[in-house]
Amino acid sequence: MSSEAESAVFGRSSAPLRKAVAGDGCYIIDSDGKRYLDGSGGAAVSCLGHSDAHVKQAMKDQLDKLAFAHTGFFTSDAAENLARKLVDNAPDGISRAYLLSGGSEAVEASLKLARQYFLETGQPSRHRVIARRQSYHGNTLGALAAGGNAWRREKYAPLLIEVSHIAPCYQYRDRRDDESLEAYGQRVANELETQIQRLGSETVMAFIAEPVVGATAGALDPAPGYFKRIREICDAHGVLLILDEVMCGMGRTGSFFASEQDGIAPDIVCIAKGLGAGYAPIGAMLASETIYRAIADGSGSFQHGHTYHAHPLSAAGAHAVLERLLDDGLVAGVHGRGDRLMAALNARLGQHPHVGDIRGRGLFRGVELVEDRETKQPFDPARKINVHVKKAAMNEGLICYPAGGTVDGKSGDHVLLAPPFIISDSEIDELADKLTRAIDTAIATA
Ligand code: PMP
Repeated sequence: MSSEAESAVFGRSSAPLRKAVAGDGCYIIDSDGKRYLDGSGGAAVSCLGHSDAHVKQAMKDQLDKLAFAHTGFFTSDAAENLARKLVDNAPDGISRAYLLSGGSEAVEASLKLARQYFLETGQPSRHRVIARRQSYHGNTLGALAAGGNAWRREKYAPLLIEVSHIAPCYQYRDRRDDESLEAYGQRVANELETQIQRLGSETVMAFIAEPVVGATAGALDPAPGYFKRIREICDAHGVLLILDEVMCGMGRTGSFFASEQDGIAPDIVCIAKGLGAGYAPIGAMLASETIYRAIADGSGSFQHGHTYHAHPLSAAGAHAVLERLLDDGLVAGVHGRGDRLMAALNARLGQHPHVGDIRGRGLFRGVELVEDRETKQPFDPARKINVHVKKAAMNEGLICYPAGGTVDGKSGDHVLLAPPFIISDSEIDELADKLTRAIDTAIATA
């Protein structure tokens, strides 16, 4: 038998963790009573903070009515209401919502849906997926294969389906000095066309990308026109465009879907994280009417499913989250809150000798750390600056989401920020102050 002191939880790491015991607005409180400002919403999850009365009440009410009914037998009001609200607010052409339990499940389902679509429409040779380097799409095998993050893939490489990866849109490092942002966006988007032609367009089923890259890149927003060109290329070659808005969707960037700001609509879009806001484990794959029809009028059903698909309790929670985000105007406030956060970061870190770039949209922001601001030389990965930033921030009472550089070994450590949409001006200042101290401590000690 294990000792009482040793945790029986099989967690991410064997290192002991602080114990979270309560949530209060933008703060999490641990078992010692210490308060942590949630500057990253965990990992871009907690868009409503940790004590939203409306969502909690909606979930309690649902629990009193019905916790679960298997989707092999029933639908539920909770699932119907959520799906309706999602598609009513979705990009053009999107008409159906497939409800799942998280982001990886949504990405996994999207790859299978793309494949079945091409089978139903008589194009069985289309099976290849193109994604981007410096990307993360989840940890299940299909989603992991789509991701281009070398260290996450490494151990599992023999198990992964073949996915080819093109360059991300990473202007801070890759734009040439003589190139406008727009020209850079076109050049890097055109890599998709080159890759489709190389593979043979009749074999390619989908391109998947995050509109604003989160975990692997620190709120990397695309160059203007980049996604318009991506959409054109997909259309020209009959390739489906899957957008992964698991992190950047649900208002995080200031519009309900991040891709609205790029003026495009995907064929399939994956969402999670902010959809449940941390109150419910939920994700969804939203699909176009064209895809839905091909299957409904073909074999009749998408050959997929999970036991907790469209779970009523999670769906009721997510519906209440959407009421807060859309009906109570929280998404409408994200641009303003985001500008305030950007100003606070710029004031403290804009001229910092080890900050190369501060970027992002809305309340989805990233700070890229560098050894040398002029040359953009990253820190030596052996110093693990990002690990030290996380530790120093926790000591300060700040939750932020740092990660190491990953693109072809040339990007730097970065810190992702994604605070709750209810964050106040003084909490924004507290976030920026604590982050600045954490960065300075990390660089001094690492
Ligand atoms: N896609 C993106 C862009 C993500 O950031 C994540 C999670 N960090 C996922 C997919 C996977 O989501 P989940 O952890 O809910 O499976």
